Amino acid sequence: MKTGVVTDKRFMDHDMGAYHVESPHRIEVLNRMLEEDPPIPYLPIEPRPATDEEVGWVHEKGYIDLVRSTAGKTVPLDMDATAGPKTFATALLAAGGFLKSLDLVMDGTVRNAFAIVRPPGHHAEASQALGFCFFNNVAIGAEHLVRNHGLRRVLVVDWDLHHGNGTEHAFYARRDVMYFSTHQVPLYPGTGAARDFGAGDGLGFNLNVPLLAGKGDADYLHLFEKILGPVAAQFEPEFILVSAGFDIAAGDPLGGMAVTPAGFGLLTASLMAMAERTAAGRLALVLEGGYDLRALRDSVREVLKTLAGGGSPVSAGLPASEALRVELEDPLRTFRRKWDIPAA
Ligand SMILES: [Zn+2]
Repeated sequence: MKTGVVTDKRFMDHDMGAYHVESPHRIEVLNRMLEEDPPIPYLPIEPRPATDEEVGWVHEKGYIDLVRSTAGKTVPLDMDATAGPKTFATALLAAGGFLKSLDLVMDGTVRNAFAIVRPPGHHAEASQALGFCFFNNVAIGAEHLVRNHGLRRVLVVDWDLHHGNGTEHAFYARRDVMYFSTHQVPLYPGTGAARDFGAGDGLGFNLNVPLLAGKGDADYLHLFEKILGPVAAQFEPEFILVSAGFDIAAGDPLGGMAVTPAGFGLLTASLMAMAERTAAGRLALVLEGGYDLRALRDSVREVLKTLAGGGSPVSAGLPASEALRVELEDPLRTFRRKWDIPAA
């Protein structure tokens, strides 16, 4: 079974201006890589627009109508989110494309999937565009799996440089969708403290790992293998979704992390192994950030190779940094209120 890739040149239609880092060039370099030198034989998935009903699972009607009203115009909705003439249509296509990829994983047409879309989504709130994001693709995807596929436990892993405030808020009081985020602090949007552990029914199902700059492959792999791994083994997700941000790559202009293309492959392999254990391998990624075009291209390439090759043994070769161990004390204290996480 092949890996599915959502790809379409229309994801270049959303444009926030020549000097904006979240630019159509991000899609251009990835599409060119897929066309000229594809790393794997993949099944191309043509996106469809999400419906109002689907977007409405996460966003308020008034907000959807507000974004719709920007069609054909240029309207700043937030300091970091300007809607252009085609932004509404492109954002619907991003969310709908991701939903289509989930359907194809669920019905076994593809083994796993990567939605290479813009605009990104994880900062978008129920009624607010924020941080280059308009509709929350990953949150809409999780809702789709719960509502239309009857899944009872979905894990959202957010390795983007930034905290996914919108995704956290969407599921903060729920236990059917677990949110696990690693993110650099201090940094935009300022949310994502370890003590924010969920509420009510969802207490213990929102896991934040704030990190100081400078973390590399071994650190991230340690987080995935030694913290997320045990938690996932107990939560037993039926599907793993990934907010795949490549702004933790070495060289990213917005970030201070140092993950290499090989490191992204290792993180992907780690999540594939988790998905094999309880989710029949069901794993789907959706593009979030990543602003160094070369690092973005090389890292996505490595992720795709891993998705297609699969199950490779996970080893970073290097121990996690001492700095990471100190920073983990606080999150681990919180997480252990609910989950059994052995000392590493
Ligand atoms: Zn980001």
